[in-house]
Amino acid sequence: MHSDIDSVIHTLKVQRTLPDGEILSLLEGACAQELREEAESVAAAQFGRGVWLRGLIEWSNVCRRDCLYCGIRRSNAGVERYTLSREEILSSCERAYGLGLRTFVLQGGENPQAARGLVPVVAEIRSCWPDAAITLGLGELPFDIYAALRKAGADRFLLRHETASEAHYARLHPAGMTLRSRLECLRELRRLGFQVGMGMMVGSPWQTPRDLLADIRLLEEFRPDMIGIGPFIPHPDTPLGSFPAGSAELTLRLYSILRLILPDALIPSTTALSTIMPGGRKAGILAGANVIMPNFTPLPRREAYALYKGKASTDGAEQLLDIQKELASIGYHIAPGRGDFITH
Ligand code: SAH
Repeated sequence: MHSDIDSVIHTLKVQRTLPDGEILSLLEGACAQELREEAESVAAAQFGRGVWLRGLIEWSNVCRRDCLYCGIRRSNAGVERYTLSREEILSSCERAYGLGLRTFVLQGGENPQAARGLVPVVAEIRSCWPDAAITLGLGELPFDIYAALRKAGADRFLLRHETASEAHYARLHPAGMTLRSRLECLRELRRLGFQVGMGMMVGSPWQTPRDLLADIRLLEEFRPDMIGIGPFIPHPDTPLGSFPAGSAELTLRLYSILRLILPDALIPSTTALSTIMPGGRKAGILAGANVIMPNFTPLPRREAYALYKGKASTDGAEQLLDIQKELASIGYHIAPGRGDFITH
């Protein structure tokens, strides 16, 4: 039995894929310990126990979409809407840069008009901090806006596919939103020269192991530079607010499986994971993740950017100290530099 277990993990590591049945058994928890150890050792071989930090700036919670799981969905009238000013964005970047971060992530609701307004701000960030990477997560936008943002100097774009099953996608989103359109955006972003990130929520309502298998197959095929995966966390003011949260353990298993399938990928240990699991950030790194995203959104705005309930809200500098200590306690350190995707 034991040699069977070893051989599954070994096959995954060498062939970077596995048949459906074996992926499903790993998802169910087979050889969890071996899987985790192998993923950690592959990550350590690739990245030398260095973890890259990204300064997250929650740029705006104004959103035209009505995703059924998301706290900042258009129909949630309880949200006080904001869009950070140019000055607020630049001062957030400055704080993050001053603390050594070399990637800024501007994330926000989907809002084409405001995204267009962000183009000159991206250009300004680019010229103020030429050695920092600019990552955007602004949803599905008209392609000319993607192109303008790229031209202004943005390097990377995060657009989670959320679920690779059409039918499941349709249950989580209102009519008119399709997986196909999201994938078209991802292809266009890649064509424009962005490093692209995709990913899914774990344990979103109605998700089955087969859906997660489809996610893994999609990631295998698309081979994104970054993979963002976090547990679903119910937000009470959404239609899915009474569903249970996703499993932290399953999220960790997915980090490990994907680390073995895509050894070079940039995989954050997500905020959502540490929200539902004490010590989750560390556990994510030990499962094969290699990125952490401390939050640099101006504190007064934090509360209004609640995608789900219970998000931590401490100051960026304070978070950095915690991260440093946590990483040191497991023999890891903060890696300097932008942390671009590199094929090893
Ligand atoms: N609007 C942008 C980015 C903001 S949402 C976009 O469409 O990409 C960023 C991510 O938060 C989403 O992709 C989703 O996977 C995650 N998210 C939203 N609501 C969530 C919830 N209730 N629980 C866990 N993750 C959630």
